[in-house]
Amino acid sequence: MDINDIGIDNNEAAQLLVDGFGRQITYLRISLTDRCNLRCVYCMPKEGVQLLSHSEMLSYEEILKFVNALVSRGVNKIRITGGEPLVRKGVVNFIEKLNNIDGIKDMAMTTNGVLLGKYARDLYNAGLKRINISLDSLNNEIFSKLTRGGNLDSVLKGIDIAKTVGFEPIKINTVLMRGDNDKELMNFINFAVKNEFNLRFIEYMPIGQNISQAITSKELIDKIKTEYKDFEPKKIDERSVSKEYYFSAQKNNKAVIGFISPLSEHFCNDCNRLRITASGKLRLCLFYDEEYDIKEILNSNASDENIYKYLLDVLQKKRQTHLFNNKNNKNETDNLQNNNNITTDGNIYMNKIGG
Ligand code: SAM
Ligand code: SF4
Repeated sequence: MDINDIGIDNNEAAQLLVDGFGRQITYLRISLTDRCNLRCVYCMPKEGVQLLSHSEMLSYEEILKFVNALVSRGVNKIRITGGEPLVRKGVVNFIEKLNNIDGIKDMAMTTNGVLLGKYARDLYNAGLKRINISLDSLNNEIFSKLTRGGNLDSVLKGIDIAKTVGFEPIKINTVLMRGDNDKELMNFINFAVKNEFNLRFIEYMPIGQNISQAITSKELIDKIKTEYKDFEPKKIDERSVSKEYYFSAQKNNKAVIGFISPLSEHFCNDCNRLRITASGKLRLCLFYDEEYDIKEILNSNASDENIYKYLLDVLQKKRQTHLFNNKNNKNETDNLQNNNNITTDGNIYMNKIGG
C-alpha cells in the first residue's frame, strides 16, 4: 500500500489513534528481540527455533522514529519486552533515548530477571523506573524444568538488586499451569507478603500448547481465600487490566496480588494497545495472525503525519475481541495456522510476539 494514497482528510488527521470500535490507542508494547537466554515451556519451542538475523530486526533508530510518531498521536505508555529485552546489545542506551521522548508518561520493561543483576543500576540511571519480572517457580528444580535450564538464584538476585537500586513498584508476573507449578500458589502468596511485592497471576494463554493446563483467576482467588480470610479486592482502578487484592487485616503490608485474566474475563472492550515485533511487524491483537510490516514505511522518508495515516488505516482492521477460549471456532483458529511466526512444530510462540 502506498501510504500517500490513503484518503484521510485534515480533520481526521488531527485526530488520535482510534480504531473502528472507538478504542483509542495509548499503549505500545515493543518487542526488542526474539532471542532469549531461557526457553520457557509455554513460550518457546524446545528446538527448531528460527531466530531473526540482525538485519531482519528493527534498528533502535527505526523504533525511536516509530515511537515519536505515535507519541504525537496520544500514545503515552510504552512497555519493552521480547524475547528477553536484556539480551539485546545497546539496550541501556536505547532506554535513555526513549526516556528523552517528551510525552511518554509511563515506560516499563518486562524481563525474566536473569541479567538484572548486571543491568538494573544502569537501566535505572537511564530513566527506567518500572519493571516486571517473570517468575514461575520458587523451587530450583521446577524453575529449571519450566525454563529448560534456568537458574532460580540468578533471578532472585536480580530482583534483590532491582529493589536496592530503587525500582518501584517491582511487579512479579507469574503464570500458573495445572500439573506444573500450580501447587506453588501459596508459596508465591507468602513470598509476596514477606517482600511486600506486587504479584500478578497471569492466566496461561494456550498459544501453541494445551488449554487444559489453564487455570482461571477465579479458581486461584477462591483457593487463596480459604487460607487468608482477609483477602479482599482493592478499589477498582478502571485503567488497569489487573484486578487487585490485598490483605485487609495486615494494614501496613504493601503486598498486592493482581489477577490478569485474558482468557476468562477478556479486556478487549477497553483494549488500548498495539504491539510491534522485533522484525517490525505491527500486531493489532495477540490472538490474530494479521501483521503489518512497518519496516518499509520507517525506511522511507515518511513524515510522522504519513506514519500516522498509515496506522490509522491499519487500525480500522483491529478486531473486537480475541477467541483464545473458543478453540472450536475453526475459521478463526485456521488463521493461526497461516502465521509467519509459526515454528517447525506448527505452533506459534510468544517469544516472537512479545506477550
Ligand atoms: N523474556 C521476558 C519475560 O519473560 O518476562 C519478556 C518476554 S515474555 C514473552 C513476556 C511475558 O509473557 C512473560 O511474563 C511470560 O510469562 C508471558 N508469557 C509467555 N508465554 C505465555 C503464555 N503462553 N501464556 C501466558 N503468558 C505467557
Ligand atoms: Fe524467554 Fe520470557 Fe519467553 Fe521465558 S517467557 S522463554 S524468559 S521470552
